[in-house]
This record gives sequence, structure tokens and C-alpha cells, in this order.
Amino acid sequence: MTERLCLVHYHEIGLKGKNRATFENQLVTNLHRALAGFDIANIARVSGHLVVETNDRRASEELAAAIRRVPGVARVSLAYKCGLDADEYVAAAIQAMGEAGEFGTFKVHARRSSTNYELHSLDMNRLVGAALCEAFPEKKVDVHHPDVTVIVHVVQGNTYVYAASAPGVGGLPVGTAGKVVTLLSSGFDSPVATWMVGRRGATCVPVHFSGRPMTADTSEWLCQDIVEALAPAGLVGRLYVVPFGERQREISLAVPQSIRIIMYRRVMLQVAERIALLEGAKAIVTGESLGQVASQTLDNIAAVNEAVTMPVLRPLIGSDKQEIIRRAEEIGTYDISCQTAPDCCTLFMPRRPETHARLRQVLEAWESFDHEAMVEDLVANVEWRDFSQCPSYHAPKGALREHHRELLPFSGDER
Ligand code: ATP
Ligand code: MG
Repeated sequence: MTERLCLVHYHEIGLKGKNRATFENQLVTNLHRALAGFDIANIARVSGHLVVETNDRRASEELAAAIRRVPGVARVSLAYKCGLDADEYVAAAIQAMGEAGEFGTFKVHARRSSTNYELHSLDMNRLVGAALCEAFPEKKVDVHHPDVTVIVHVVQGNTYVYAASAPGVGGLPVGTAGKVVTLLSSGFDSPVATWMVGRRGATCVPVHFSGRPMTADTSEWLCQDIVEALAPAGLVGRLYVVPFGERQREISLAVPQSIRIIMYRRVMLQVAERIALLEGAKAIVTGESLGQVASQTLDNIAAVNEAVTMPVLRPLIGSDKQEIIRRAEEIGTYDISCQTAPDCCTLFMPRRPETHARLRQVLEAWESFDHEAMVEDLVANVEWRDFSQCPSYHAPKGALREHHRELLPFSGDER
């Protein structure tokens, strides 16, 4: 009986030598979570691939699409699983090639991972190739540069047959690269930056600074929507929200107007660093891109960065806005980021922000208000909400739970 399943290819994991089992196990765990809405029977390792089988033995395009969004997945094929009977896998090959879309040339690539199978792979190539030539007389064989390759893979008493595969997001399974805190606004850039480090295997803990109580809480809702939108990639376990409005007002009264933003940013980074320490995260991530706006000149980045010792990663530093927007569309955050909401950065904006801050002036202003007490207070009043999309996220034990109030779960119609 021929069944339909998804074959998952994962190039990069193959390169990781001894870590391979850890990476594969994490990918299996992450796939189980990401595919919770499907009726999955089994996810197993088979000869350098993962096979995802559904209870109805009829894996769908939707299932393949969901798998493709999981970091660590290089390619996904909808494959037929048959027995060792040649008639069965020849029929599956005809079926698979018929589904491969528009093309002119093809070849068959037979492989045997179980060498006790009676036919040699060259014989299998000939057998399947002849049947395909007969079934598709208008298609030509091209063994060097075929448009379509029909794979017939004998492994562990089964034959897997497929002709097409679609690219996944690539990268590494979330949970294999440690934890990071990401600074998340509801703009275009930081959701993409978060997704990018998540795709490289980092478990992400976003922190959002809202203008509350001086602004409405719209940006907080948008950030929650962004986290929900990122669910198919499974990279966020918890979102922190820091109501920053009052403290911004204090800063704006204490420091020269032109360097207010730099002061806000230094406080934000210090709060993020404190949360990172509580979380056991080893780096902070921002969505900055060089020269994109006034605050993202090298001088200003340096003046802000000076406030923390933890590494600050900027995955978008060399990206153009168009590239970022395209990625935002792909990962499903674009429409959310299009909605404007005042956040802490639009609050008390100076008319002419400094574009080339001098460190001495910045440090002088920094000493003109009690930033230590401010950071302490902000950390003590942080709010958070947990999300179930990320199996590698482990909440910190102890202090946080006692001192931190959970964000009320929001539902769409309360807006
Ligand atoms: P984004 O599109 O991510 O909002 P941006 O182009 O608006 O970025 P800035 O406003 O200079 O640029 O912000 C630079 C980075 O600082 C953001 O990418 C984000 O990482 C962080 N950041 C800005 N505002 C906030 C906020 N309210 N809460 C948390 N992080 C923020
Ligand atoms: Mg912004």
C-alpha cells in the first residue's frame, strides 16, 4: 500500500559532526510543536532525513508548507512510501513525475541504503526510467542537467519516491544556539531581526518598551500579534513588556533634547541586559540597520552600546529596507508592522535628534539622572506573557515569578 508522507532534508545539520544527534532531536521536538494542528502519527529519522507521517497516511501540501517554515529545514518533499515491490515504486514514480509541474527533461536517481535489496541501483534506474519514458513520451531524459530528478530511495525495507522538493527556511533548529533577548518594537525591522537569530538556532525572548501610561497600549498588542505571527517558526517562549512612559518623561526633563533618544536607548539596553541575565540569555539583539535613521549612525550606535557589556547583535546591520520588507512579508509580520502605534520611541521625540553624538556629552547627560534606580524600577515592574510555540524556552526560576505580573491574555475583540 503506497502512502504519502513528508520527507524533510536538513543539509546544515549534517555538517555538525558530533552534535548531529542533538540537532536532529531538537528538530524533531520543534516539528512536533509546529505541527500540533495536524494529525501526526510519527516523526522519525530515516537515513539522513526525517519522515513526517500522518495518521491518515495522506500528507498534504499544507503540511509540507508548515514544515518548510521551521528553522533547520532545508527542503521538504511530498514523497510516496512503498514496499520493495518494483511495480509499486514504478507506479509511484509515474505518479510523482506527473505532479512535478511544467518541465522538459528528467532523470531517475535510485539509491539503496539497504544493500541487501536484490536490484542494483543502476538496474533500478533503468527499470524506473523505461517506465517513465513510456508513460511520458514527450519528456526527454537528460542525465546531466535534468529539470526534474525522480528519486527512488530504498531504505530499511521501504522505498521512498519523490520528484519535487520545495525549499525550507534553512538555518538551524531553534534551541541549539542558546538564548537571546531581542528588542522588539512593532516596526518592520525588529521582528525580522528576531526571526533571523531564531533561524540560526537561538531561543528568542523579546522585550518591548511601551509608552504606557503616557500612550495607549496599542504597540503592546501589536507585539503580541507579531509573536503569534512568528509561531510557525517556534522561536518565542515569552514576551516581556516594559511600561516606559513615565520614565521617559523624567529623562526628557533631565537631558538636552537632542540626545533624549540616546538616553532612552541606553536605559532600554540596560533593562534588556538585566532581563537577559535573569533569563540566562547571552546576547541582546536589535533591528538596527546602518544609517537607516538618525539614531543608527555609527556614532549613535557606539554611544548607546557603551551602556552594556553583553554582546549586542544586529543581524540587519547591512540590510536594505527593501530586503527587510520582503522578509517581513514572508514571515507574516508585514501587515502587523504596517499598523502604526505610538510606542516609547515616538513619545517625547526631539525636533532635531543628534545624529553624531559625542560620548562625553552623552556620559554627562547620563549622570544627570538616577539611571540606576530607574533601571531597577523598570526591571521590577516588567510584565510578561508566555507563548506555547517554543519547546526550547525554559522560564527562569525564582525571583521573576514573585515580582512580575503577567500580562493579561488579550483577545482580538477587546481592542
Ligand atoms: P523597527 O522597525 O524595529 O522599529 P526602526 O527602524 O524603527 O526599527 P529605531 O526606532 O531606531 O529603528 O529602533 C532601532 C531598534 O531599537 C529596533 O529595531 C528595536 O530593536 C529597538 N527598539 C526600538 N523601539 C523599541 C521599543 N519600543 N521596544 C523595544 N525595542 C525597541
Ligand atoms: Mg521603530
